[in-house]
Amino acid sequence: MPLAPALALSLWLAAPAAPPAERPEDRWNLADLYPSTAAWSADAAALEGRLPELAACRGHLGDSAARLRACLDLSAELRRRLMRLLVYASALRAEDTGVASSLELSQRGEVLANRFGEAASFVRPEVLALGAERVGRFLSEEPGLVVHRQPLDDILRAAPHTLDTAGEALVASFGLATGAPQAAYTTLSNADLPWPTVTLSDGKSVRLDQAAYTLHRASRNRADRKLVFDTFWGKWKEYERTFGVTFYGALKSDAVYTKVRRYPDTRARALDRFRLPPEVYDTLVRETNANLPTLHRYFRLRGRMLGVKDLRYSDVYPPLVAADLRYPIDESRKIMLASLAPLGDEVLAAVEKGLRERWMDVHPRPRKLSGAHMAGAAYDVHPYLLLNHNDDYESLSTLVHEWGHAIHSHLSNRAQPYPTAGYATFVAEIASTFNEALLLEHMLKAARTDEERLFFLGSALETLRGTFFRQAMFAEFESEVHARVDRGESLTGEALTRIYGDILRRYHGDREGLVKIDDLYTVEWAYIPHFYRAFYVFQYATSIAASAMLADGVMRGEPGARDRYLALLRAGNSDYPYELVKKAGVDLATPAPYRALAARMNRIMDEMETILARQKK
Ligand SMILES: [Zn+2]
Repeated sequence: MPLAPALALSLWLAAPAAPPAERPEDRWNLADLYPSTAAWSADAAALEGRLPELAACRGHLGDSAARLRACLDLSAELRRRLMRLLVYASALRAEDTGVASSLELSQRGEVLANRFGEAASFVRPEVLALGAERVGRFLSEEPGLVVHRQPLDDILRAAPHTLDTAGEALVASFGLATGAPQAAYTTLSNADLPWPTVTLSDGKSVRLDQAAYTLHRASRNRADRKLVFDTFWGKWKEYERTFGVTFYGALKSDAVYTKVRRYPDTRARALDRFRLPPEVYDTLVRETNANLPTLHRYFRLRGRMLGVKDLRYSDVYPPLVAADLRYPIDESRKIMLASLAPLGDEVLAAVEKGLRERWMDVHPRPRKLSGAHMAGAAYDVHPYLLLNHNDDYESLSTLVHEWGHAIHSHLSNRAQPYPTAGYATFVAEIASTFNEALLLEHMLKAARTDEERLFFLGSALETLRGTFFRQAMFAEFESEVHARVDRGESLTGEALTRIYGDILRRYHGDREGLVKIDDLYTVEWAYIPHFYRAFYVFQYATSIAASAMLADGVMRGEPGARDRYLALLRAGNSDYPYELVKKAGVDLATPAPYRALAARMNRIMDEMETILARQKK
């Protein structure tokens, strides 16, 4: 994929105003990919001209070990060029979404990607038809095949879940028809939902779309927060029935694929995509529940710091401490380099080079793509990072997060041969959240006042709540609703709200009187677009648990900890992701990493409570 596989958690909205004068060094240098769009077009045409070579491999993978190698090498070489083309096209489009010629270029890229996909579509079924034994023999005959060993194994292990040719053709043709629930959901939730308007306490009238909700739910004014929640969720509630139909449609479609692919349930199918043991999921959910007292301690602290006795769900988002700390990009770059020092000279040198050689597009501009992401798929060039730096602490944190992805891609692309240079989502967010942990450590050391310290600690707590507990809560909900539909039960919007509400209340200690959840807000499940990608979000929770443990080891200076961590980043896709993380010292099927995360959260709260006690005196 041209972009980092998981972007959602780092998405935030750009402020409308651009800085007065943008310096050239804050724009990325796309010339490292292609000197001009004309050069891009020439390379695209050249690639297209070579697709028949790949097509000529069809039916011949089993001819000999040498032929198999030649064809796989060719496929990898063409894909590598395709990715470079796609990174350029999407970067050009991202820097100004309003340019028609960029849109055309990215559409040409998509067409080319489809043609390549068609030309390469025979590889998988043919390798499966060859079978593990024959492929194994080829591997021992032809040493050059070794770079394809892992990808081949990944194809071959799908054999028990693969149908005969006619069956596969049927499944493929139905694939064209199963996207409607998600498409309807996206259209309704982004374009068609008639967003309500509210008047806030300052007299300002606000149209409450998704972006405005994200902004105003963090208001310092409690009445405004409640108004925003009531109005926003009231609107979703009106469409509960329809969202129920779209989500149930997606769940049913998943259940059908599960049956066709001969898996016991949808979760097993989803986890098997990356050969993740089910114990990872079970342990995550069990340990999260066991550690809910830590989350509840956070809510208690939040109530105390906000000065609110009867905490409600609408009190979850405002920052614990108001601080107007500014981090312009030059300052942010310096802080990042200082924070990343524990990663060692080689990594620092790479980051410095990236900063010097303009891997980033820094500032928000009109029509620039919102949010932040890293594209690491241009194997022969370098990672590209898109930011919308707003000079606040969240921007600094996003910078460091995205550079975590960039370091990962940089190390993996340099260490791995192309066929295994990518990496799974299960590992991706480890690198980014690892960097966030280093940043927190650095900021705490550099903080001048208790107020600043409270601000950084509070922001870290919020990340742990949002990236660990909330995603684990989603994971539990997904398990429950998929299991029901796998068993043949039907689900309405109302039923989904009830199931979600039970879990939401348990996580927030509603019964214990911690955070009161109004009935209206339990329609929140309808708002989460990730649910249309079955069993995806739990990886945010496992990643931050892994990175908390790895970062602790590196910061404590444990012997070998840094080398093990960097080896994980260099390993790309050379093995299955669970095994890779385990090799780095974190077994995500055991309670240890989840307990380490809870311990980390408790340490942060200990520190905050010490400061608060000191301030009281
Ligand atoms: Zn990320």
